[in-house]
Amino acid sequence: MRRGCISLGNVQCDDCRRIIPYLERYLAIDEKDGVEVEEGETSHYCVECCLKKDYAHYRMEKGKQILTFFPELTKG
Ligand SMILES: [Zn+2]
Repeated sequence: MRRGCISLGNVQCDDCRRIIPYLERYLAIDEKDGVEVEEGETSHYCVECCLKKDYAHYRMEKGKQILTFFPELTKG
């Protein structure tokens, strides 16, 4: 399960090990052996690592680039 969160300055990225700065977005995700699961160990990843791991991507909305931690929604 994925949860998009805002850092309070006390969260460390589990991949690159940097502290995620205050008010920066990060992802809390349940993983087991590096694979996303519904319930498992919760990992925290900074935006950069999410992009690298394909857990996040940018999409364009009303001419603005928006970061999303969730899979692309199908336009209906
Ligand atoms: Zn990171």
